[in-house]
Amino acid sequence: MTSATTPVNPATPTGSTPTLPRVSIQGAVKKFGDTTVLDGIDLQVKAGEVAVLIGPSGAGKSTLLRCINGLERLTAGSVDIDGVRLEYRESSLNRMREHVGMVFQSFNLFPHLTALENITMAQISVSKRSKVEARDRAATLLARVGLADKAGSYPSALSGGQQQRVAIARALAMTPKLMLFDEPTSALDPELVGEVLQVMRELADEGMTMVVVTHEMRFARQVADHVVLLADGGIVEEGPPEKVLDAPESARARTFLNQIA
Ligand code: ADP
Ligand code: MG
Repeated sequence: MTSATTPVNPATPTGSTPTLPRVSIQGAVKKFGDTTVLDGIDLQVKAGEVAVLIGPSGAGKSTLLRCINGLERLTAGSVDIDGVRLEYRESSLNRMREHVGMVFQSFNLFPHLTALENITMAQISVSKRSKVEARDRAATLLARVGLADKAGSYPSALSGGQQQRVAIARALAMTPKLMLFDEPTSALDPELVGEVLQVMRELADEGMTMVVVTHEMRFARQVADHVVLLADGGIVEEGPPEKVLDAPESARARTFLNQIA
């Protein structure tokens, strides 16, 4: 029975905004051969939330991020973004990637393109923006990450922190509604970490939905709405930072937090 007065789904009454999570991961299993790397992960991230993923090396943090944007294919389970199920057809993947930006540990800029060109390229090829529009947008984003004067610089002439800020601007150029960060500061010299975290903090303040893998506990404390501790392919503990980081319930969590302290 479907009419204007009888909503199909009573949880989302006609005329009101549905409160679908931005990201909903259900029963995510990922195996590489016989090795189970993700063993049934359930995770939801609401629009405007920052979720920080922590956990020991090999826990499956990168794999989970890569499953969210379809770089890896789940063995079982599902990922929905704003209620749209991620499927592994090219058309579905392309549509999803227009809305999901990713920033990697290694900045992955094109070495033969300037900072500005790195930011314009996908806008022209994927988003079909005009050259002028793409360049305008790139210039605005470079200014936003504090690099207005580096538009013409090649990556080799930029510090690691500057390259990573260009990589963030490049991801933002697609107007994503979700940003994934995989240890964005762990390849940086310590004195360059702050400038990248600052850009991320500003993004969070502006309401960007973010899933961030990081070992920067101060950032997690200040910025995360939600901290998820992953170990051995499962969620060991999750909740607000003051709970997970300062009053963890499990021995596994305490051991990990002591190691990184
Ligand atoms: P983390 O990011 O938490 O350090 P990863 O997600 O990178 O962990 O890796 C989790 C486990 O999955 C590791 O044991 C790793 O060796 C394995 N793994 C990751 N990617 C692949 C792959 N493409 N093929 C086989 N094994 C993989
Ligand atoms: Mg990793």
